[in-house]
Amino acid sequence: MLENVRDDFPLLARTVRNGRPLVYLDSAATAQKPQAVLDAEFGFYREHYAAVARGAHLLAEEATAAYEDARADVAEFVGAAPEEIVWTSGATAALNLVANGMAAASAGLGGDASSPFALGPGDEIVVTQAEHHANLIPWQQLATRTGATLRWIPVDPDGALVLHDLPTYITEAARVVAFTHASNVTGLVTDVEPIVRRAREVGALTVLDGCQSVPHLPVDVAQLGVDFMAFSGHKMLGPSAIGALWGRKELLDALPPSVYGGGAIATVTMEETTWLEAPMRFEPGSPPVAQAVGMAAAARYLTGLGMDAVAAHERRIAHVLRSGVAELPGVRLIGPVGDPAQDDVLGLASVAVEGVHPHDVGQVLDDRGIAARVGHHCAQPLHRRLGLAGSTRASTHVYSTEDDALAFVEALASVRSFFGVTA
Ligand code: PLP
Repeated sequence: MLENVRDDFPLLARTVRNGRPLVYLDSAATAQKPQAVLDAEFGFYREHYAAVARGAHLLAEEATAAYEDARADVAEFVGAAPEEIVWTSGATAALNLVANGMAAASAGLGGDASSPFALGPGDEIVVTQAEHHANLIPWQQLATRTGATLRWIPVDPDGALVLHDLPTYITEAARVVAFTHASNVTGLVTDVEPIVRRAREVGALTVLDGCQSVPHLPVDVAQLGVDFMAFSGHKMLGPSAIGALWGRKELLDALPPSVYGGGAIATVTMEETTWLEAPMRFEPGSPPVAQAVGMAAAARYLTGLGMDAVAAHERRIAHVLRSGVAELPGVRLIGPVGDPAQDDVLGLASVAVEGVHPHDVGQVLDDRGIAARVGHHCAQPLHRRLGLAGSTRASTHVYSTEDDALAFVEALASVRSFFGVTA
């Protein structure tokens, strides 16, 4: 049980339309911030702010130490070593970093060391039909640029990945398999092990989109066995515009950079450049130092709550949410209700209300002070597979309560009659 957690989140105390209390159920899009994160970021600006690295003054030293300490905290949060964490502007940038690095390797920009990343015609890139666009489009582009073929693991009519015949989708030609750890639409948590096993069998790299899992479940990259994982700060109670790519150090050192500039280089002549080792080779330009400090504070805050307790809390809310909407006539819950005893589904529920457009559903919810998300949630292929143009999604975090879930269910129950839909 997470007690009194709401008090840590100042924004949750505000009211919204017509003075109604806020019911914030849009955490899968972005999460609210605890005071500890606000204080860390503000405190850094107030007392230690300076450009990091190579400064010859005390403030630069302090800022650099804060930046690197933040890296160590975020690394620890996912069971990694600090030098395996690359700061990015979010999960989207992290996924692009890997795909664009592979494109650079394929164009011969990384030398011999980058050959494991080089693709060409006859090679296959594998994704799933459940991906967020952030983990689909970079791979589509990589396929177009290299002549490799894009394949995908399909989903069944409930939105679950079809994992029983993996050799059909991950063939001997697969060179990289990029897949989500948890769907931002169905909430289903992926069984990572069989995918990693099959990818290893054929010598393919694995890239995990941990955007929705890292904020809500205990995640340890060593246990997962993948090669890369992307995650974002803003969904795990941290600041916006910060995220991270975790990668095995030897792979990060061999992956060519694809964004260029100062701070990432060993030597530069008028003709050419050599790169620093990872992670610095991927962090050109002035980095997001205050945001990194804030993300580390979020990691420490979540660690303080205990990720097992966080997951158990969200499972409880998820059950209220999912079982509640599943019982409503004319409302289709996407995916199964889930087992409240297992981490098989996140604390979210996406629904389609028969005869009512998701934007109209959102309007009814908003009138009641409920912030939820409507549309395709950046997963058009998944919605298309489910026979839907969009859905309405309620999603939770550590501060969500059973009352929030019940408010959503109750509001949803009124939607069809509100619009005079009777059939
Ligand atoms: N992957 C998934 C599953 C997501 O839900 C999101 C954001 O909604 C992203 C990737 C993109 O993350 P970011 O906003 O950090 O770029």
